[in-house]
Amino acid sequence: MQIIEQIADMRAWSEGERHQGRRIVFVPTMGSLHEGHLSLVRDAKSRGERVVVSIFVNPMQFGPSEDFAKYPRDLERDRALLEKLGIDVLFHPTVAEIYPDGYQTHIEVEHLSLPLCGAVRPGHFRGVATVVAKLFNIVRPHIAIFGEKDFQQLQVVRRLVRDLSMDIEIVGHPIVREADGLAMSSRNAYLTPEERRAAVCLSRALCNAEKRVRRGETCAAKLLHVVLAELGQESLAHVEYAKLCDADSLQEIDRLQGVAVLALAVRFGRARLIDNRVIKN
Ligand code: AMP
Repeated sequence: MQIIEQIADMRAWSEGERHQGRRIVFVPTMGSLHEGHLSLVRDAKSRGERVVVSIFVNPMQFGPSEDFAKYPRDLERDRALLEKLGIDVLFHPTVAEIYPDGYQTHIEVEHLSLPLCGAVRPGHFRGVATVVAKLFNIVRPHIAIFGEKDFQQLQVVRRLVRDLSMDIEIVGHPIVREADGLAMSSRNAYLTPEERRAAVCLSRALCNAEKRVRRGETCAAKLLHVVLAELGQESLAHVEYAKLCDADSLQEIDRLQGVAVLALAVRFGRARLIDNRVIKN
């Protein structure tokens, strides 16, 4: 596994591989890797001949009062995990390499960036779209894999690629969970043991709502009532949002019709957790 830090070196490597007709699969991450990330990497290995994983904690997607400085970082551990999986390149640029002095260009995926996490984290998806576009230009993958755990991010990236006519296939990877149902996340490290036990209420709430859908419920208000009742059982859970949205537009819906996403953001102490379930009827 090569570790590449410079844009020019990353580009030269990709150019060489493309020249030899090899397909490059890319998994962008912010590091502090867990089984969710590793599952994306295994997926990547099964889809192409060369795999690039990036680790870049992107300052542009963090708000001024968010956890950029404290976001968990452990490059040595991440490096060892990726080496074991047999990837080809770990791309690990510095902030100055990605955003040199005078940087002033941003990408905005207008409507998809506004609801859900976008409403609580203004500028977040602008930061995501900008860094993803930059990473795509540097790594030049044929395929890029993103987790459905960050469902809105996945839809923003799909739209970005379509709107800017980028020749990249975007693959969504299912959410990887702990044995008790908690969606894996680097931010789970912020949870105290008590909060960790309570945090399982997110997946429980989603399961309860899904069961109602299977029994024929289509009314959004009723489904959200089920979700909030479950979350309300945990005094440590502070709900930021719980919404039923059309899976493509992310606009809220009153009634389930076709493919929807039930999306949650809940705070436990200093941890902000998100989870979702794609629901079809
Ligand atoms: P992050 O390091 O949090 O930016 O995540 C990097 C990629 O891994 C993103 O595409 C995430 O959606 C994905 N990811 C993170 N956690 C999970 C999970 N539990 N299951 C599936 N994908 C995940």
